[in-house]
Amino acid sequence: MIDLHLHSVFSDGTNKPAELVEQGVRLGLRAIALTDHDTVDGVDELQSACQKERMDFIPGVELSAGIYSLRKDHQREVHILGYFPKWDEEIKKALEPLRQIQAWREERNRSIIQKLRGYNVPITYEELVALAGGSNVGRPHFAAWLVEKGFAHSVGEAFQEFLVPGALTFTDRRTFNSSEAISLIRSVGGVAVLAHPKALHIFSDADFEAFLKGMVDEGLEGIEVYCSVHLPNDIRRYERMAEKFSLIKTGGSDYHGKMKPDIRMGYGFGYTHVNDSVYDDLKARLDFKSKNK
Ligand code: AMP
Ligand code: FE
Ligand code: FE
Ligand code: ZN
Repeated sequence: MIDLHLHSVFSDGTNKPAELVEQGVRLGLRAIALTDHDTVDGVDELQSACQKERMDFIPGVELSAGIYSLRKDHQREVHILGYFPKWDEEIKKALEPLRQIQAWREERNRSIIQKLRGYNVPITYEELVALAGGSNVGRPHFAAWLVEKGFAHSVGEAFQEFLVPGALTFTDRRTFNSSEAISLIRSVGGVAVLAHPKALHIFSDADFEAFLKGMVDEGLEGIEVYCSVHLPNDIRRYERMAEKFSLIKTGGSDYHGKMKPDIRMGYGFGYTHVNDSVYDDLKARLDFKSKNK
């Protein structure tokens, strides 16, 4: 068993990278990848823990890459997973442009705080940072704070009332577009993969194929076929798409710890089974790219 989509406290997960490794060992996982939102800051810790436990790992990231909009009332965030061939100073340096995304995120966060305070919601950046475990504050942390302080009954309600497009204090943030995200990933010999495609809510094959073709032309090499939100039907659909566009199939749970308590590491909601061959194929592609640079 493997899990190639995991979040840690370095974004909106609640486990430290070393805890993910520990948990992975307990579950008998053979390999894991860390894919925090817009940051690789957790990978050093992941690497040390994996070396100690002799667990295979792939350094990764999950980049927000703009909005897909089929119609005016259809807006879905595009997420692109990046998997990297190795972890060393050279690659860390080459991924410095991610700092720009983090700065845009912080700008957005400060604007949401201003707006909330305008509604007499007494939230502070310090509290959010504490809630986030020290880094990379995201909307899920706002939602958790709003629930904790009684401004919403649930995380879902907090999003609906305050944090989704059209809600009271929603603020857009700048991200890379898909072409920029894919280019950055590929510039370090990485493989770019479309994350949880079902979340885009593109129900017609023609629309989906047009969208996918655009990203393949930009350098996309994989699609996350096996993931928590996919039912057996979806898996068959995206396997077909992978074959049609010669894409690598990847998979993982999208585990966020307590932030999304219904998702279990290694298992997702219970549907996710990611074959070991998925890891072998991804690893083979990364090795091939390293050798043929
Ligand atoms: P951010 O990157 O800070 O803009 O936050 C985006 C994250 O918020 C996504 O990765 C999801 O985990 C979460 N999210 C977005 N929309 C919702 C929603 N309607 N309900 C619950 N979580 C959401
Ligand atoms: Fe998340
Ligand atoms: Fe995602
Ligand atoms: Zn994710």
